[in-house]
Amino acid sequence: MADEIELHASARVVLADPMAVLDRVCAHFTEHGSVTRHPEGARLDGPYGSVEIEVADGALDLSVTSANETYLFVVKSSVAEHLFEFAAGEAFELSWQGDIPAQMQIPYFREAVVRSAHDITPTMRRVVLACEDTAHFESGGLHVRVLIPPPGRAPVWPSAGADSRVIWPEGEDELVKRVYTIRAIDHQRRELTVDVVLHDDSPGSVWARNAGAGDRVGLLGPGGGDVAPADWYLLCGDETALPAIARIATSLPATARAAVVIEVADGAEEQEILSDAAIEVIWLHRNGASAGSTDLLPDAVRSIALPESGDPFVFAGCEQAAARAIRKHLRQERKLPKDRHLVAAYWRRGHSDVHDHGD
Ligand SMILES: Cc1cc2nc3c(=O)[nH]c(=O)nc-3n(C[C@H](O)[C@H](O)[C@H](O)COP(=O)(O)OP(=O)(O)OC[C@H]3O[C@@H](n4cnc5c(N)ncnc54)[C@H](O)[C@@H]3O)c2cc1C
Repeated sequence: MADEIELHASARVVLADPMAVLDRVCAHFTEHGSVTRHPEGARLDGPYGSVEIEVADGALDLSVTSANETYLFVVKSSVAEHLFEFAAGEAFELSWQGDIPAQMQIPYFREAVVRSAHDITPTMRRVVLACEDTAHFESGGLHVRVLIPPPGRAPVWPSAGADSRVIWPEGEDELVKRVYTIRAIDHQRRELTVDVVLHDDSPGSVWARNAGAGDRVGLLGPGGGDVAPADWYLLCGDETALPAIARIATSLPATARAAVVIEVADGAEEQEILSDAAIEVIWLHRNGASAGSTDLLPDAVRSIALPESGDPFVFAGCEQAAARAIRKHLRQERKLPKDRHLVAAYWRRGHSDVHDHGD
């Protein structure tokens, strides 16, 4: 049975002070998963697999276990990136042995080609991408990192180094990377749809405005994990999370109930939210205030009562300050356990391409 297969990889890294590097790795990883320390090493467990680390004879002995090829690469790549970061400039060799040999291809990379693009509201543009392997995007998360090549240049895509770190094209071949939700997947037509918020002349907006049939993009992902099963959902966010909310709503069973709260500029930005579940949709309008400048969403979340019985789940995606306020409220005032909410900063006012995708 595919789910029961375990893949392994191991490596030995000789370092001047392996215990100090291990300490830094463990301190960092507590934010992302669970860390079990023992005198000679540690075990790290995260969503993509586990890593046993032993300190022996001036080296770190690494042993990675994951459920599939993609996850194994994610863990190897992440371990390699962090070791090079935390060894602070020290030169060392990292060569993985095990089930999947060193590979040039990143297993979660796919190329796609723009099929069409059109506005669905005044500030939301739908880009339809043709992709041979739509099945790859079906589970594991809702979003992808879209890699946009420089205009007029043939794309140079990222590859994987022998140590499993991602090698990014640089200089004239540097890619714009932006995170978007896959709004819909059409396996028959082999199409993926992304809905892009147009704001100013940002790189993502310029790409979506100018996207023409035949333009090539790279896709890394999917990522972010799947929404937990629940009896009752609160799905909330601003327009950047509207595609995610719409996709989650579409996937809910008829037995579920959901409160949906979406902040947009004004009434012209509202979209139909389809679901088999019993949903109640509330639209919040900024009415002239700029995006990311109001407390509309956190205030709305505070005003919604959680059901007294059954399993609730809260999904939120929005500007970073609002995401932080919502997360704090859910954890501290509602005492909602970590596995009952996914609150993510989808963007940060005044900053490009934010990497805090929440928890
Ligand atoms: C998991 C995830 C899923 C996402 N899904 C979507 C999606 O489906 N559709 C979508 O449009 N976005 C989505 N986003 C948000 C998107 O990645 C960011 O808005 C990103 O910053 C857009 O890149 P950009 O090139 O337009 O702007 P950037 O170059 O990143 O930023 C330039 C400036 O614009 C500001 N800015 C960024 N986004 C907005 C905005 N929406 N409104 C106003 N100002 C903004 C920044 O603060 C910065 O000052 C998602 C983000 C995450 C983390």
